[in-house]
Amino acid sequence: MLTTGTKMYGVFGDPVAQSRSPLMLNCAFRTSGIDAAYAAFHVLPDQLEQAMHGIRALQFGGVNVTIPHKVNVMKYLDEVDEGARMIGAVNTVVNDSGKWIGYNTDGIGYVRSLKEETRMMIAGKELLVIGAGGAARAIVYALAQENPQKIWIANRTLSKATELAQALADYGNIESVSLDELSSHVQVDLVVNTTNVGMFPNQEQMPVPPEFLQQNMVVSDIVYNPLKTKLLQEAEIKGCQIHGGLGMFIYQGAYAFEYWTKRSAPVEAMRNILTQ
Ligand code: NAP
Repeated sequence: MLTTGTKMYGVFGDPVAQSRSPLMLNCAFRTSGIDAAYAAFHVLPDQLEQAMHGIRALQFGGVNVTIPHKVNVMKYLDEVDEGARMIGAVNTVVNDSGKWIGYNTDGIGYVRSLKEETRMMIAGKELLVIGAGGAARAIVYALAQENPQKIWIANRTLSKATELAQALADYGNIESVSLDELSSHVQVDLVVNTTNVGMFPNQEQMPVPPEFLQQNMVVSDIVYNPLKTKLLQEAEIKGCQIHGGLGMFIYQGAYAFEYWTKRSAPVEAMRNILTQ
């Protein structure tokens, strides 16, 4: 029930009707006994500025922002955290006593999900990230903070992988590789798909051939529709440990919840409501 003390949160996107964040975050507030509510707001690109003024005036606790606002929202904030600046995108905005601060919880959400769900130690390992878009950028940045031996980036458009590797070169040993050269050049402990390949309605596609997968690899896919992509199915057949994309979504929301409330997120309740 909403009260006069209910703290308001939400997600800004265009489109936004498909968002599962209200379901997940309202469950988190309810489970934690916090008097707060979270709604989806359809904000058109030319109305983002007014929407940001609106939530300041209404003293919201914060918002998530999704496509197409993740870059433009930075103009309307008082501060952008270093990670979000390097990634070039904000997905979580926090009202810190009237100061509006932007964060990116996608990459750190991915890494927390990977560590919690696979128990993998990333330090000292060789990693392969397939893709060089927005999600890849956040994930490579966050993986680099974990001190891996090396991060390879492969992408359909190789030049974008090279640009990304160069942009994040200060954070670790990061190098691009063409998809064709993967098998001959690269032996890795973790493969992460950050492309759309394998996502509904193209569930039969995979970003690397099955022959590339080896039993000792952890194979991870951030696509979560379907929950078990073709890549993960093939990896499972090879005996690899697999890691699906739902966890990244849950933990990016868990970090947002924690930044807003300074309380631990009820991750299992959040997962249960999404999978019910
Ligand atoms: P993006 O910025 O548009 O980047 C898309 C990436 O996929 C690019 O590297 C692109 O390669 C590659 N790609 C697209 N179609 C391809 C194809 N047919 N063959 C080979 N490569 C292809 O998108 P994004 O924001 O990074 O999101 C990527 C995926 O991650 C989406 O499926 C999204 O749903 C998922 N995602 C999941 C979560 C989560 O919480 N689990 C969070 C964010 C995103 P080029 O550079 O060659 O175009």
